[in-house]
Amino acid sequence: MKKVRTRFAPSPTGYMHIGNLRTALFEYLIAKHEDGDFILRIEDTDQERLVEGAVDIIYDTMKAVGLNHDEGPDIGGDFGPYVQSERLSMYKGYADQLVELGGAHYCFCSEEEIEAQRKEAESLGISFKYDDPCKHISIEEARKRIADGEKYVVRQTIKANGETYFDDEVYGRIEVDNSTLDESVLLKSDGFPTYNFANIIDDHQMQISHVVRGNEYLSSTPKYNLIYQAYGWDIPTYVHVPPVMKDEQHKLSKRNGDASFQDLVKKGYLPEAILNYIALLGWAPESEQEIYSLEELIKVFDIKRISKSPAIFDIDKLTWMNGMYLRAMSEEKFYETVKPY
Ligand code: GLU
Repeated sequence: MKKVRTRFAPSPTGYMHIGNLRTALFEYLIAKHEDGDFILRIEDTDQERLVEGAVDIIYDTMKAVGLNHDEGPDIGGDFGPYVQSERLSMYKGYADQLVELGGAHYCFCSEEEIEAQRKEAESLGISFKYDDPCKHISIEEARKRIADGEKYVVRQTIKANGETYFDDEVYGRIEVDNSTLDESVLLKSDGFPTYNFANIIDDHQMQISHVVRGNEYLSSTPKYNLIYQAYGWDIPTYVHVPPVMKDEQHKLSKRNGDASFQDLVKKGYLPEAILNYIALLGWAPESEQEIYSLEELIKVFDIKRISKSPAIFDIDKLTWMNGMYLRAMSEEKFYETVKPY
């Protein structure tokens, strides 16, 4: 069997959302349960959203909860660099190759023009899918225009007929009509890849066996599969996980001051209690046991017991669990822990 390799791929947004930390934990447990590798990759290709010090928050959180990575920007590994902005030269080569394979094309349309069309469709209440005239330009002609200095992006090419499916460990088989898939930009005119492209290249190149991520990516995964197929690459095992919600209708959001690991620690919740609690968000062990060390979680974790339904973050439950951890402490450790408060 291939070695199990998972990755946590946060974008440095400046805080650690509890849902993201829960995804990281599942990724870690899936790898460690099989004696595999857990990789940290920083996804910083959205340069407009970069925040000072954000990468340190990621390192600090992972350290505080004991999710130690085997490869990453700070410790290296065989598949680096582990920061996307340091991998730029690689994406262009892959994008050109994908064009040759027929999975993408060069597009010279202006963003303003596409945006205007999108707005118009919106105002008419119709759903918008860009029908790119550039996919009919021959490669030779496109190359010539690029050589002449014209600005371009690389856009995925999707044949409108047929269906694409993939199998997800949690959600089962997902099948879509190709005609519903939009042809996203893969490489921007500044040479930066979008998530839609970078995730595939990086996961393939880093030999990731299990792609574990939030279920908001379920709907674009068929598009990613088409790209894997165009290159002739093995498709990873997909594990999409349900969101962590504040209540049935609302996501946990940064604005409420209760969505991040740092907010909870500031309020006096212990990192080990938080980690234990979030393991039970969207996953359930076979037994009734609720208190688990990380070691125990590694032993009992089973992908098959991840739930499809959204998990509700119950602060009262966390408070109860935190109390269990506090009472189990030695007097010295308790004193050290509560002193700053
Ligand atoms: N950078 C993406 C995010 O933070 C990662 C998604 C993934 O795990 O593939 O949402």
